[in-house]
Amino acid sequence: MLLGCIADDFTGATDLASMLVRAGMRTVQTIGVPSRPLGEAPDAVVVALKSRTIPARDAVAQSLAALAWLRGQGAKQFYFKYCSTFDSTDAGNIGPVADALLDALGAKLTIACPAFPTNKRTIYLGHLFVGDVLLSDSPMRDHPLTPMRDANLVRVLGRQTRRKVALVPHEAVAKGADAIRAAFAKLEADGVAHAVVDAIDDADLMAIGSACRDLALVTAGSGVALGLPQNFRAAGLLPARTDAAALPDVKGASAVLSGSCSAQTRKQVAAMARTHTAVALDPLAAASAEAMADAALAQAAGDLAAQRPFLVYSTAEPAQVAKVQSALGRERAAELIEQAFGVLAARLVERGVRRLVVAGGETAGAVVQALGVESLAIGPAIDPGVPWTTARGRTTLALALKSGNFGSDDFFLKSLAMLP
Ligand code: ADP
Repeated sequence: MLLGCIADDFTGATDLASMLVRAGMRTVQTIGVPSRPLGEAPDAVVVALKSRTIPARDAVAQSLAALAWLRGQGAKQFYFKYCSTFDSTDAGNIGPVADALLDALGAKLTIACPAFPTNKRTIYLGHLFVGDVLLSDSPMRDHPLTPMRDANLVRVLGRQTRRKVALVPHEAVAKGADAIRAAFAKLEADGVAHAVVDAIDDADLMAIGSACRDLALVTAGSGVALGLPQNFRAAGLLPARTDAAALPDVKGASAVLSGSCSAQTRKQVAAMARTHTAVALDPLAAASAEAMADAALAQAAGDLAAQRPFLVYSTAEPAQVAKVQSALGRERAAELIEQAFGVLAARLVERGVRRLVVAGGETAGAVVQALGVESLAIGPAIDPGVPWTTARGRTTLALALKSGNFGSDDFFLKSLAMLP
């Protein structure tokens, strides 16, 4: 393993893994810190944690456990991945986790660079922009858990660490990798531990990636990952792969499970329902999660027998969701539906389904857990940030896991059409 990554949430992990595959590294994503070595030897591993908004000391402990496992697997460089909007509070968790990883690695300096120009996240003079506006003027200012009201990353990170934070300005970045490396050396000599690095386009990310060659730890969004594989190739450690996204053929029936109620998922459900069997889960009619799953299974029996792809969904308009929530309570409704999808996924696999598209971050989490999936090999992107993956376990499964607002309107059928 060359690159060992720790991501602070699940979809962020997939985003990073997808980027590494695109840049030519075979990548596996694990769900939490694995309890044993992987049965394969990828170029990069991304350990997906759920540590973005938990107490800082728990985030530190989990990140250190992930680091220890990745080191045990022989990783040569480490990457701490956070959101491209630098989601955090004055209590952390970016600063505390980065400090703990630096200490554990015995390293003095790392970078902080959430830039992702393709998605319009750019950094200039240390200020993070989201599209045309400063982070602090974007909708992130009212995020329920991590409201971002200051766009100056040197200040934001400075409140999360006792160590020195300073800027590598765009003026240096634009001069290329050597100039950036010289800036790192100067900052390190000045006792700086965290270098916020400006980046406004992909050429900047490539130069920053190259300049990070000798850093034990990189902390960033997924953008900087674009520029790291070139270092391993230049050092003769990584072959020029054209097949980094290749996955094994997975034969078997297909199904789509949708528990997301986002606007984009509602469109995707409507699009598939026009031409395929679409079974609605009814949390108000069912006595239990098992009963809900069994009722859906009965309605899809014909399609399953004929190996025709079908859709099972709880996706609903806001008014319907509100009705379900007021009858069952918000938490209970979510839990019941997630559980039903978990039971359903397990029963579908028992009956020969091998290709599953799942919509909804929490829903995907419930399905992956019910199927006992521990790691995913990352394949080709279906839409930006959403790749096909294969899960190896008792049975090999093809899984496409999509969070709420991702994917084009025809995402479900488009995903299935990509498989041979
Ligand atoms: P997204 O990625 O769009 O946020 P999630 O799966 O993460 O989707 O979250 C959707 C949540 O809403 C889940 O907890 C799910 O169980 C719940 N849910 C889905 N359908 C309904 C419904 N019809 N009524 C109430 N809650 C629902």
